[in-house]
Amino acid sequence: NGSLSAVDPEIAAVLDAELARQRGTLEMIASENFVPRAVLQCQGSVLTNKYAEGYPGRRYYGGCEAVDVAEELARDRAKSLFGAEFANVQPHSGATANAAVMHALAQAGDKLLGLDLAHGGHLTHGMKLNFSGRLYDVASYEVDPATHVIDMDLVRKRALEHRPEVIVAGWSAYPRQLDFAAFRSIADEVGAKLWVDMAHFAGLVAAGLHPNPVEHADVVSSTVHKTIGGPRSGFILAKQEWAKKINSAVFPGQQGGPLMHVVAAKAVAFKIAASEEFRERQQRTLDGARVLAERLAAQDVTEAGVSVLTGGTDVHLVLVDLRDSQLDGKQAEDLLHEIGITVNRNAVPFDPRPPMVTSGLRIGTPALASRGFGEAEFREVADVIAIALAQGAAADVDSLRARVQRLADDFPLYEGLEQY
Ligand code: PLP
Repeated sequence: NGSLSAVDPEIAAVLDAELARQRGTLEMIASENFVPRAVLQCQGSVLTNKYAEGYPGRRYYGGCEAVDVAEELARDRAKSLFGAEFANVQPHSGATANAAVMHALAQAGDKLLGLDLAHGGHLTHGMKLNFSGRLYDVASYEVDPATHVIDMDLVRKRALEHRPEVIVAGWSAYPRQLDFAAFRSIADEVGAKLWVDMAHFAGLVAAGLHPNPVEHADVVSSTVHKTIGGPRSGFILAKQEWAKKINSAVFPGQQGGPLMHVVAAKAVAFKIAASEEFRERQQRTLDGARVLAERLAAQDVTEAGVSVLTGGTDVHLVLVDLRDSQLDGKQAEDLLHEIGITVNRNAVPFDPRPPMVTSGLRIGTPALASRGFGEAEFREVADVIAIALAQGAAADVDSLRARVQRLADDFPLYEGLEQY
């Protein structure tokens, strides 16, 4: 038979092992989530066979009548979910969405002002090895050294100093909301375009639990796979005046044929994101992050030199500062991994350690909220993390792992899923 296990048992074993890993551990990487089965179905469907260069009604290939419907649904749902005038749902990823945004908004050599990577910004906001750092003239703003919060007076100062063509507001590791109106007013003052990259917090925006950047920004980019919990991919929203430029920057500017199986899965994800059940899940995501930040502020943890950057969180993640701890980021990540909790080490602002080691952890709650965790379960996992980080090498790994295993067992994942 032509099933995966018959055709390629080695890859079938990889899928098996990954499903077992996801089921048996607690996923707390802030950028990850579990997609619903309807999304898995689209992504494993015959839509993967279809070439559809161009846009609905204006394709360069025949036979697009079915996939056109999927793309139109995805665009309409994205616009209605975020209150946007225009949507492009073809970007293969957040990074290609961002490359297209810069392609549409600026010329090579123009100045881009974004949050420093070491302070929570993303590679595509100006890191020197990335397209953004190679094609554009990059300037950065940083967080305040005392509060670790973005100081809008400093952003304004940098904007006046550098006179950028584009200002990007958005982050990969920052635990607070951004002041989009203040960014807009600074952009207007220096004649810059405002681009918001909401990749991380888009699900919170969709649920109405975070300010919506769409009304303030010229262009908004996002991923679909983080808080939204859809397929791994990107999309772009914009004011109508940018529609033509964005479309042509995505195709033919950045990409060839869109991944129509993923576009269909985006439509599904946007439909789900408009539901009451989705709003309730995003609320549990926020509650879980708050519970975690509160537990990590307790005495047993702070006495061990572990603290929470900015003292808390408004979003789906917590940044743990280990600069005064016995553990560095790598050791803390490995310790939690041994216990069955997956997180990623993350540089903190002004980090004295190298990027492969770091002095921080980024811990997020979206995947566990999708798995069904509520406040009681987040309290339990927060306690396990707090004990591990406070006790370090002395922690009783076996007993903490048993507590994690109980939580994983209580919330079965993808029950009965037949992968191949
Ligand atoms: N933008 C931000 C703010 C992100 O955090 C990320 C992902 O880490 C991206 C863009 C890139 O997304 P992708 O990994 O899909 O290219």
